[in-house]
Amino acid sequence: MTTLIEVPTRTVLDDARDQLRAAVDVLGLGPEVYAMLVEPRREVSVSIPLRRDDGSTEVLRGYRVQHNYSRGPAKGGVRFDQRVDLDEVRALAMWMTWKCALLDVPYGGAKGGVRIDPRHYSTAELERVTRRYTSEIAPIIGPNHDIPAPDVGTDEQTMAWMMDTYSVGHGHTVLGVVTGKPIALGGSQGRAAATSRGVVTISLLALAHVGIDPHDATAAVQGFGKVGRGAARFLADNGVRVAAVSDVYGGVRNTSGLDVPALEAFADRTGSVVGFPGGTAVAAEDVLVESVDLLVPAAIEGVIHGGNASDVRARVIVEGANGPLTADADRTLSERDVLVVPDILANAGGVVVSYFEWVQANQSYWWGEDEVNQRLRERMTRAWQDVAEEATRRQLSLRTAATCMAVERVFKAHELRGLYP
Ligand code: NAD
Repeated sequence: MTTLIEVPTRTVLDDARDQLRAAVDVLGLGPEVYAMLVEPRREVSVSIPLRRDDGSTEVLRGYRVQHNYSRGPAKGGVRFDQRVDLDEVRALAMWMTWKCALLDVPYGGAKGGVRIDPRHYSTAELERVTRRYTSEIAPIIGPNHDIPAPDVGTDEQTMAWMMDTYSVGHGHTVLGVVTGKPIALGGSQGRAAATSRGVVTISLLALAHVGIDPHDATAAVQGFGKVGRGAARFLADNGVRVAAVSDVYGGVRNTSGLDVPALEAFADRTGSVVGFPGGTAVAAEDVLVESVDLLVPAAIEGVIHGGNASDVRARVIVEGANGPLTADADRTLSERDVLVVPDILANAGGVVVSYFEWVQANQSYWWGEDEVNQRLRERMTRAWQDVAEEATRRQLSLRTAATCMAVERVFKAHELRGLYP
């Protein structure tokens, strides 16, 4: 009789925990600090019954995890994706804590998600899912508690429904309960493009760090959603040749540089980059191993792993997505001297402008787009300089240096607040 042995597979949460452990070790903080920071402060798992358009009913599962709120209200996106599970949300929430601390915005970290493939649901069904999910998590969110934002599979319309549902429950309009709202509803100028702008600010600094002039540089971008398409656009605006992009359906390559505005117009029309006449078709995963200077994975977690990391040819990787490299990939790429800029720094532009949006909503006073973009650039540049200096000073990777800086700030907040009771 054959015995089936289950081979344990590592999850994204294992990687997030290991990153915390490495930082705690470097900082010499001891196991009790690791034990305190590894556990989410609060998490809820909710059932979401949905009436489909055809009259049938199905029940979906949603989560909201608040990893830490020692430095301020918890903050983090809401994801609609069929791969969502509690461990993924826990990992993403922990990374939000480090991201907010690293960029020194006065928030802790949270994340939410609903296990659903939004491509297979109508707009009316998605509205019902969003509203029911919001009412289920309403007891733990709020402008002073936990402030959701868009992530994979959600957008400013989702945020408008969340804001409305929460507000109806409270009997008055609460603009500050979510960020990433439409501008007509108290959203901030520059928020929609903020993550991409931040990714590109960091990409240009990272290229300069390894001595590559952006005008001589080539790039590949995985993902053509809210983060990836803006990253491609701003890279091209800054003289970088965008040689390949992909989305979940496939990829397209043009080594002379894709015409990004034309590609965006094509994707708007067809819903995908696949079939764009200004390039040749490539498999989605091949975009990761293109011969380019800069690779921006801006889709989902774990796409560069032990199996393909040694095929990556980029000199610099800037993590537009959260957790696109597994721990194995991180090791392989560091041995090969590839400069990896970690997610908690690279894609923090979104939470920085979310913070600006929350500040503006709380004051009912809105800034112009130039001001938002200027403040964003300053914050991202300062964070890059601080992390790069810390990495050099302590002889660490950018990831470990960034995590150390963030963990130290969160630990300091814990220490000052003390243990209650
Ligand atoms: P999105 O849903 O707008 O876009 C995701 C894109 O990835 C789509 O183009 C999709 O087709 C593509 N994709 C999915 N699986 C793929 C695959 N296997 N290969 C190639 N492409 C694939 O999501 P988004 O908001 O752009 O988020 C992307 C990543 O950036 C996520 O990791 C998210 O957590 C992170 N992030 C987003 C923000 C934000 O402000 N939206 C901020 C920080 C980090």
